Amino acid sequence: MSRSKRDYYEVLGVSREADIQTIKKAFRQAARKYHPDTNPDDPNAEEKFKEAAEAFDVLSDIDKRANYDRFGHAGLDGTAFRDFSGISLDDLFGGFGIFSDLFGSFGGRSRSYQNQARQGQDVRLNLEISFDEAMKGLKKKIKVPNWATCPTCHGNRVKEGSSLQSCSACNGTGEMRRIQRSAFGQIVNISTCTRCRGEGKSVPKGAACQTCDGVGKVKQSRTVEAEIPPGVDSGMRMVIRGEGRPGELGGPPGDLILVLEVESHPFFKRNGADIILEYPISFIDAVLGTKIEVPTIEGFETIKIDPGTESGAIIPLKKKGAPIPNSSSKGDMYIQIMVRIPAKIDKTSKKFLEEIKKSIDDKYIFQTNKELKKFLSLKE
Ligand SMILES: [Zn+2]
Ligand SMILES: [Zn+2]
Repeated sequence: MSRSKRDYYEVLGVSREADIQTIKKAFRQAARKYHPDTNPDDPNAEEKFKEAAEAFDVLSDIDKRANYDRFGHAGLDGTAFRDFSGISLDDLFGGFGIFSDLFGSFGGRSRSYQNQARQGQDVRLNLEISFDEAMKGLKKKIKVPNWATCPTCHGNRVKEGSSLQSCSACNGTGEMRRIQRSAFGQIVNISTCTRCRGEGKSVPKGAACQTCDGVGKVKQSRTVEAEIPPGVDSGMRMVIRGEGRPGELGGPPGDLILVLEVESHPFFKRNGADIILEYPISFIDAVLGTKIEVPTIEGFETIKIDPGTESGAIIPLKKKGAPIPNSSSKGDMYIQIMVRIPAKIDKTSKKFLEEIKKSIDDKYIFQTNKELKKFLSLKE
């Protein structure tokens, strides 16, 4: 390994309490002095430039700086440093260069000094679809809320003729530094300024752009077409890559995440890909057996009810359940027979039943109900 590293504050020639503006200024000076572009024949200059760049990278990043302040170089073990080599001075300090990105507005983000390209945020939307839509799948146009630069102030947040002022809470640094002395030495607490949220600038009273209310961005929705496969269920997520918020500093966009909410069906209940249907039959059909037509998600299906079917009996219909998303397979359907007992019957029916009752011996009951038989046997 190379010689031990110099103290970063020493490299940039700034004090340990230096604010971000001072650090920026110091790096700018060092960069101009040592940049390989201005010192093509001096190999030492490149080393010095790299040293200054690394010091700047750490001291301009709230997290890295806090670690460095507490633990020195050891606090940055395993940390990747931003590589400024191969970047021209123009790119560093030019109008739209990295440097202006570094200190440009990140619109109310905390950690405003992180300079890496960042992936845009994911956008999460709940999407309610009907039971039928869930079974068949659908294409749906979805309005995705998004932000666009305010057309009136072009993101400057202020009315024409006004300008942003330096944040009075943090003196424009975007950060709050608090130095605590303890038995273990000096601890520097750094936090993002709560008033300007790290931006260092704020909108003066009464100067806010009226179109965007001083935000610099306006809400604008965009339409994305989502293709929802057959068989989705409540709580499932669909990720549509790249349709989230735009990335920053050249980072990729985030994803659009659709959280699906499938309306319940009045009769069909779902258990994953299986569908359960409670189906009422008369007690007479249950005793005698019959054929019934039951609805499935694909139309009617005739099923056989065996004589002596009990309430609660389940008749499976293989592969008649919901499609399993993104596969050619399907769940099963289960018909749960519910034997209905009439609450009231007319006189004629009553007479008939009384006749039948005479002809029915208790043994039928015992034969058709093993549980009851077992129960009665306990008495003996
Ligand atoms: Zn505006
Ligand atoms: Zn502030």
